[in-house]
Amino acid sequence: MPFYQRIIRRALDLGFIAVGFCRSGPPPFLAEYNRWIDAGKYGEMKWLQGHRHLKADPGAVLNDCETIISLAYPYPSKKPGTPDGFTTARYTNPESRDYHEAIKERARPLVALISGEYPGERSRICVDSAPLLERGIAYASGIGFIGKNNMLIRPGHGSYLFLAEVLTTALFPIPARKPLVSMCGTCSRCIEACPTGALERPFLLDAGKCLSYLTIEKKGPIDVETGKKMGRCFFGCDVCQEVCPFNPGPVETIESLPSIDQILHMDEEIFENRFGKTAFARAGLEKIKRNIMALREARGGGYQG
Ligand code: SF4
Ligand code: SF4
Repeated sequence: MPFYQRIIRRALDLGFIAVGFCRSGPPPFLAEYNRWIDAGKYGEMKWLQGHRHLKADPGAVLNDCETIISLAYPYPSKKPGTPDGFTTARYTNPESRDYHEAIKERARPLVALISGEYPGERSRICVDSAPLLERGIAYASGIGFIGKNNMLIRPGHGSYLFLAEVLTTALFPIPARKPLVSMCGTCSRCIEACPTGALERPFLLDAGKCLSYLTIEKKGPIDVETGKKMGRCFFGCDVCQEVCPFNPGPVETIESLPSIDQILHMDEEIFENRFGKTAFARAGLEKIKRNIMALREARGGGYQG
């Protein structure tokens, strides 16, 4: 059995739902990415300017990188909800550890497999944690296509998935795979549904207007107008995925969060105990409270929509 098939088999056993391979080198969509940076569509994430040369070459992330294994791991299709009807983005899954470390750990046996077969070669696992054009690499590896909402869509599963990459200096034969052409066709539901107009046109996101960025990355206050556009979701935004026909619908929630009153009354110690290892920890309690306050103000001071 070719080595790459052993990797696929092991990755599927580990719970990954898609595995693809590509060689190192400039990823697809690099020119588009650079145009996006030049147009200043990255909000206040100025560090992205400095990362552009790194994104052009996976070898800058792992010296002498030869091969990239691209992996997809699913997250729940149900939205975490509060007892009072508020929600957060699906990937936050408050019952699970933050995905960065959890998925890295899950992928470690693949590195062990490579080291066993190719002693002396180096590998690095990346989960949204290194300056890589992850979606471009996933596309080049053939595990999905890029939707007009900029998400990696895997036909038969949709876009509710995390991406991970194993970069390795091992040069082993990989299967020939053609990237999947976009299957969006004439659909434009994501663009029409985006509450802030952040999806300016197909494949063009103004991150500075995007609720995912505004509620998680952005520092400082959130204005009432933004609060009005947040609907009932106080952390992240899934709207452009929820309307996508490649994802399962309708929207369902699972009550896995405290009420927003309880969150507003949390102190750092309680937050750390309850959410310290989850995806909420990266943004922190202060931003979560800020977001809830923005929702509340948008509703004229009340919690009920
Ligand atoms: S995440 Fe929300 S705000 Fe951002 S582009 Fe998608 S629909 Fe628009
Ligand atoms: S909603 Fe339609 S246009 Fe947008 S990503 Fe999905 S299929 Fe493509």
